[in-house]
Amino acid sequence: MNEMILLKLGEMVLKGLNRRSFEDKLQANLARRLHRCGQFRIYTRQSTTYVEPKDDSCDMEAALAAVKQVFGVVGVSLARACEKDKDAMLETAKTYLGERLLAARSFKVESKRADKSFPMTSIQLSQYVGGELHEAFPHLKADMHHPELTVYLEVRDFAAYVHADPEPGAGGLPVGINGRAVSLLSGGIDSPVASWMIAKRGVALEMVHFFSYPYTSPEAKDKVIELARLLTPWCGRLTVHVVPFTAIQEQLRRSCPEELFTVIMRRFMMRIAQAVALRTGAKALVTGECLGQVASQTMEAMTVTGGVTSLPVLRPCIGLDKEEIITIARRIGTFETSILPYEDCCTVFTPRHPRLRPLPGEVEAAEAALDIQAMVDQAVAGIERVQVTW
Ligand code: ATP
Ligand code: MG
Repeated sequence: MNEMILLKLGEMVLKGLNRRSFEDKLQANLARRLHRCGQFRIYTRQSTTYVEPKDDSCDMEAALAAVKQVFGVVGVSLARACEKDKDAMLETAKTYLGERLLAARSFKVESKRADKSFPMTSIQLSQYVGGELHEAFPHLKADMHHPELTVYLEVRDFAAYVHADPEPGAGGLPVGINGRAVSLLSGGIDSPVASWMIAKRGVALEMVHFFSYPYTSPEAKDKVIELARLLTPWCGRLTVHVVPFTAIQEQLRRSCPEELFTVIMRRFMMRIAQAVALRTGAKALVTGECLGQVASQTMEAMTVTGGVTSLPVLRPCIGLDKEEIITIARRIGTFETSILPYEDCCTVFTPRHPRLRPLPGEVEAAEAALDIQAMVDQAVAGIERVQVTW
């Protein structure tokens, strides 16, 4: 039990959101994520959340990896506990941070004192430990302004803690603090990235996937479930709403002009996603669309697809280049799965010459003969819900 994790919290002063709800949400998300790593005491003081193992059976390495994927945290450090005594802290700094002290050229010591009965002030403690470390590591230059390494000493209620500069956390806001959205998850590269970007802003997600069996295979569906699972360390547990889409696509192929097929199909996706949003309390839709990437991602096409829903359609990839999206996909761990070669429902019945700039009027005319509500209701009634977790 001589190590703990310290988390530095990110931005939290948002209009309408207060510090307390930020901290409560973050602590609840951390508790859920750490559940499998052991039992921890999680509490927050002065923009730092402390993750303290309750006993020696905690898997600290797994816990450290887990908290790095929790949104709302900007910095993560592993800290060593020791006795609340200046020499114990000094010895701990020498051994626990020895390698880093050897590798650095300049350093400083910073102390925080939550236990006001501790006999030295923070400044005295920093000066004492800093002076002794300087003797033990004579190559180190003391630098109060831009040190390569900062040694932190924290004197808390039951113990003191020693740690070095934090590693970056996931950033963003705790998932759930900004409500819920429905994310349209295909098997591609873009939509998992879009989902991650919106979750990062504190939004809990419901995933919707349109499945066109037998035109798309069970493996294609498994791939999407796997993508959702890969997102759960970041987004929390997810439900994937798998929508049977074959009947709608077949009907559209029979009754719509070929060049409008894709855009009309995408309007059905939006309508069905909106129905899922209504049932799950979601207040927005999320897609991986990116301006100009394919025919259905022109401004005109997006106007026409977005026109069927009154919910905002969040498209966080809209201004990113493919390379930028791929960089994020690699970083969050979805890329390798996204490029597995399975077909998507969008590639079924793809028109040879899709209309790049469809007009709302012509699309509505092409839909006039359809019983839209019945088609949507039937698809929604056939939804299969798959729960995924990390
Ligand atoms: P992605 O890489 O995310 O598949 P894409 O560049 O292939 O995107 P499209 O196939 O036109 O683009 O799809 C645009 C967006 O529509 C996707 O990012 C996704 O949000 C949604 N979408 C496409 N196909 C599906 C599907 N089968 N199920 C759910 N959403 C889908
Ligand atoms: Mg796609």
